[in-house]
Amino acid sequence: MSQMVYTFGGGVRHDDPRAKDKNLLGGKGANLGEMASIGLPVPPGFTITTEECVRYLAEGANFSDSLREEVAKALQHIEKTVGKNFGDNADPLLVSVRSGARVSMPGMMDTVLNLGLNDETVEGLAAVSGDDRFAWDSYRRFVQMYSDVVLGLDHGLFEEALEIAKEENGYFADTEMSADDWRALVGQYKTIVAQEQNGEPFPQDVHEQLWGAIAAVFDSWDSDRAKVYRRLNDIPGGWGTAVNVQAMVFGNMGDTSATGVAFTRDPATGVKEYYGEYLVNAQGEDVVAGIRTPQYLTKSAREASGATAPSMEEAMPAAYQELATVFDLLEKHYKDMQDIEFTVERGKLWMLQTRSGKRTAAAALKLAVDMVAEGLIDEKTAILRVDPMALDQLLHPTLDPDAKRDVLTTGLPASPGAASGKIVLDADTAEAWAERGEAVILCRVETSPEDIHGMHAAKGILTARGGMTSHAAVVARGMGRPCVSGASAVSIDRKTRTLRIGSVELKEGDIITLDGANGQVMNGRVDTIEPKLEGNFAKLMEWADGHRRMGVRTNAETPADCAMARQFGAEGIGLCRTEHMFFDASRVSAVREMILAESEEGRRKALAKLLPEQRKDFTEIFEAMAPLPCTIRLLDPPLHEFLPTGDHEFADLAEITGFGVDHLKRRAEELHEFNPMLGHRGCRLGITYPEIYEMQARAIFEAACDVADKSGLAPIPEVMIPLVGTKRELEILRKLVNDTAATVFTEKGREIDYLVGTMIELPRAALMAGEIAEEAMFFSFGTNDLTQTTLGVSRDDAGRFLSTYVEKGIYARDPFVSIDVDGVGQLVSLAVERGRATRPGIKLGICGEHGGDPASIDFCEKTGLDYVSASPYRVPIARLAAAQAALR
Ligand code: PEP
Ligand code: MG
Repeated sequence: MSQMVYTFGGGVRHDDPRAKDKNLLGGKGANLGEMASIGLPVPPGFTITTEECVRYLAEGANFSDSLREEVAKALQHIEKTVGKNFGDNADPLLVSVRSGARVSMPGMMDTVLNLGLNDETVEGLAAVSGDDRFAWDSYRRFVQMYSDVVLGLDHGLFEEALEIAKEENGYFADTEMSADDWRALVGQYKTIVAQEQNGEPFPQDVHEQLWGAIAAVFDSWDSDRAKVYRRLNDIPGGWGTAVNVQAMVFGNMGDTSATGVAFTRDPATGVKEYYGEYLVNAQGEDVVAGIRTPQYLTKSAREASGATAPSMEEAMPAAYQELATVFDLLEKHYKDMQDIEFTVERGKLWMLQTRSGKRTAAAALKLAVDMVAEGLIDEKTAILRVDPMALDQLLHPTLDPDAKRDVLTTGLPASPGAASGKIVLDADTAEAWAERGEAVILCRVETSPEDIHGMHAAKGILTARGGMTSHAAVVARGMGRPCVSGASAVSIDRKTRTLRIGSVELKEGDIITLDGANGQVMNGRVDTIEPKLEGNFAKLMEWADGHRRMGVRTNAETPADCAMARQFGAEGIGLCRTEHMFFDASRVSAVREMILAESEEGRRKALAKLLPEQRKDFTEIFEAMAPLPCTIRLLDPPLHEFLPTGDHEFADLAEITGFGVDHLKRRAEELHEFNPMLGHRGCRLGITYPEIYEMQARAIFEAACDVADKSGLAPIPEVMIPLVGTKRELEILRKLVNDTAATVFTEKGREIDYLVGTMIELPRAALMAGEIAEEAMFFSFGTNDLTQTTLGVSRDDAGRFLSTYVEKGIYARDPFVSIDVDGVGQLVSLAVERGRATRPGIKLGICGEHGGDPASIDFCEKTGLDYVSASPYRVPIARLAAAQAALR
């Protein structure tokens, strides 16, 4: 059996590469080991591997004897290093027990501090520290935390008891509580525990405490909030969390002690200056939980904010200097911006965590570009370091600096970006309203990790309490949600569902706007402007373009989308869905007339009305895109999608066509299909009603000739036939397109280059790609339909059950979002191979939604496609993802 427990601190060095493995020890465990080994002050401890967590969860919550033995040995390592024994009544060793997965999941799993205290060891701690108040405060914190996290008791009961105790003594703040007050409260806490557990007392055995906490941390991997976080961040459920057990150091031993959270650079903007917060005489979780509003780390940040409470730089200059040295060391070592937790115990600095810091997209770009300039990393590393999906944050409108703002209050600028939306006061409401399409701003006194689903559903987050490094802020930055925290003028009344800011009372549902860049909260909506893609963004894109092999096109069908996509760097159109043009109100009646006609003649009459409209569409698109290639797909959806529905629509149509309403209704009835996605759609329309495709082909070629004549820039139409399953279908339709082109070229007295090709979106087409390539000059993989037809899962109905499939690990991700590499991917690879065998130069692309998904783009690179095509806002994402894929 492989080693399950790894120690760190106290001079241990591991030769075993497993001891550096983040997948095995979690990010926190691996980094604690690494910090200790480069000589930083880390309290000694040990890490139980993620493998053990997975085993524990799979095997029904059992600890093996060998694990118990390894933990006992590791505990001795801590005891020896600090010179205290666990459970020693005279001078007890206390430990923290923390989770730590492969990737950080801030606040999503459990932590217990001060473990090892009981009725006897608390007296020892009081004697050794010479501070009764500290010892009893630590014990009451422990009882409270352990009862919540391990025993699963309602933490509200303990908070209530504390509030009552303060009230009875006439105190306002916890700091007024004396040693005796804390001692009395511990007594009450123990009574609560016994009552809530039917007489079972709070555990006094320190080993029972330890194993209880380890079990709770393992179990917290499967807590609801952890599951939601994993789903939102594509973290597989099979990874498990490690457990870190570490000697306690105390930030709550008076005014020379403190605890804090810091980033080596500003995680919101990427600016190179220390960024963080600390609390004097406080314990670790006080800062991250956002319970007390913390103080600034640096003098300059304090001055800039106008705060009066001294910064750490001013209040504890020696510890601050040491911390600054550690920051620099860590950045040089990890070559990235670090997010750090530290504690100062009676003037001595201790490092409790370091990890690469979560950052906004703007900060990610600045950090990447700056670090290349500083010589810390190279261009390739910079490209690989920016999460392509994060770019989405930068592509959307921001508040117009010249717009009028009715500022209600200003809080802390915790996560940048701007959002307007309706006030909602709890996470469930946020989710429900967002589901019905409303933009909402989640407003809370403080957010707790249980709010994660509401934060995700919201466009922005406003909290009355909490600092810049509270969980709300960290999670919001990671999600790219604007967040204003610590807006202390905000008071929330959940009973009346109102929010008051100064004299202004707002109701749930009223609209506010947040500016996460300066912390402003504004009444009503504020105008926005389109983003400018310059500076660091442009630089990184330029580097990415220099390293990618695949082309990036766009899926677009309006001139506005084409223009935007081109601005975002699209190198052509990969899919122009012509059916969207048919829905336009001015033409839908001609389309309906065409569909309901009972003869070719009737259809041709209606199509003649559509021809000039389609020609205009294509002219505008070619003008926007020439001389880049434009793949235009001929009509694809089942015709009944265009049919009138309500009585008045039928009446209107009767007037236009001269047919009676009853006749039209009967025709519509005849067109009904049981399974339209597998019915009369795609190239089957062209086979049965060739005049439709003929009209579209004519419109394409006439427009292309006109644009070439007018602008001198010839567009390159790539006419694409959808839903082909056999070579013969393509043969017939290609001839139709070629004949139409020849006719138009004769009429216009000029020729232009064009291609005819097909989508590969049926398994049969993939299998027969060798034969189909004889007729196709290009393939574009329509992986939406290919996924649907390969999995036998309806695109339109999958929502009802697919999330359960992903939760249960049947699919690692939604296969309509990220390509099913094992199944659908195999068909793609096979079609690529067979298509190229027939026609070596065949052009290969992808135009399903997967063309904008970084993981799928990685697959496309490996499979050797020539280009990916994505919706306009995904074009920059695809450019970066394609470069990353090429570099991997
Ligand atoms: C596809 O099926 O992947 C595709 C791009 O076509 P549509 O989504 O229009 O069916
Ligand atoms: Mg399709």
